[in-house]
Amino acid sequence: MAIVSSGSQGQDRRRSGAGSGQRLVDPQADAETAPRPEAAPEAPQAREDSLRPRRLADYIGQGELKQVLGIAIEATQARAEALDHVLLYGPPGLGKTTMALVLAEELGVRCRITSAPALERPRDIVGLLVNLQPRELLFIDEIHRLSRVAEELLYPAMEDFRLDLTVGKGTTARTRSLPLPPFTLVGATTRAGSLSSPLRDRFGLIQRLEFYGLQDLQAIVQRAAGLLRLQLESEAALEVARRCRGTPRIANRLLRRVRDVAAVNGEPLITAALVDQALSLHRVDGRGLDAHDRRLLRLMLEAYGGGPVGLDTLAAGLGEDPATLEAVVEPYLLQQGLLQRTPRGRLLTPAGRAHLDAQGAIA
Ligand code: ADP
Repeated sequence: MAIVSSGSQGQDRRRSGAGSGQRLVDPQADAETAPRPEAAPEAPQAREDSLRPRRLADYIGQGELKQVLGIAIEATQARAEALDHVLLYGPPGLGKTTMALVLAEELGVRCRITSAPALERPRDIVGLLVNLQPRELLFIDEIHRLSRVAEELLYPAMEDFRLDLTVGKGTTARTRSLPLPPFTLVGATTRAGSLSSPLRDRFGLIQRLEFYGLQDLQAIVQRAAGLLRLQLESEAALEVARRCRGTPRIANRLLRRVRDVAAVNGEPLITAALVDQALSLHRVDGRGLDAHDRRLLRLMLEAYGGGPVGLDTLAAGLGEDPATLEAVVEPYLLQQGLLQRTPRGRLLTPAGRAHLDAQGAIA
């Protein structure tokens, strides 16, 4: 399987809000979609790719997703057809891009990777579609950000493997149809609700990725430690698992920071105490929250008596973009029961207050 990247998404993808660019626990950081084969070994993308599982059997957790896609792969191969279009949604860093690459590997085809912001002009998406080979995968990240023109070109392409192009202008304009080979579109989004329903309806398989449980995360950390040739006690892997916000991308990043401290301390074996030391240095607390998260919870408590308070108000108070706050920062806090969404705004829960109390004066 070859990976082909396309467009300029490396530069323009996933702009986070002001506060989140430098966060160790930012699930979006490092996440340039397009693996660029020419990238230097230490580039974030190369680092990320080196830890990606390649086969379905190596993809840890997400049992339901693997089951559904495993059946679809088998049935598709038996019929020698292209896999049905797949929409993967869920918070960043949970393995959507990885799963697209796994699907291509399992099907023995190439995966072309791009992201919606790189497909602004009609010719961007036309260029990609006409170059597809039969049964290849086209992965479009952030698919909720597709332009209207790109989306309209995709409808007949997805439904009938046909490209409808308008040639000429005004009264001389005509539509020409070009046949396309059967292909699979894999769309990924953190905001399934922002997808137009005609686009959503054209996906045969729609799957949500969930935050990972502790055991799966521990296994992910142990696997990554093996690939990075680190000696890691299982308690240490569990400690990283506890602090990575249920997100493999963050788990891998935390592990690298722990590796740095182990190297500087000259410790050949990584223990839970060393993980604690390293992650405390980066102010990642026992639940995986960083200073930014705690600032959000404190703002709710101290300025709004625990809420309810509107998302825009909170975003303004933090100098953060509301969409990033909603799609990137909040999901884990909600999942942990530290925050609640109510019709009247966000509410700090008793667990959220208790967590702040337990952190005391720690920023
Ligand atoms: P997304 O596309 O959802 O933002 P990615 O697919 O880029 O997330 O995953 C981020 C990183 O997390 C990958 O580089 C990979 O190393 C790791 N990862 C994700 N899912 C898994 C998994 N199920 N098992 C092991 N590692 C995973």
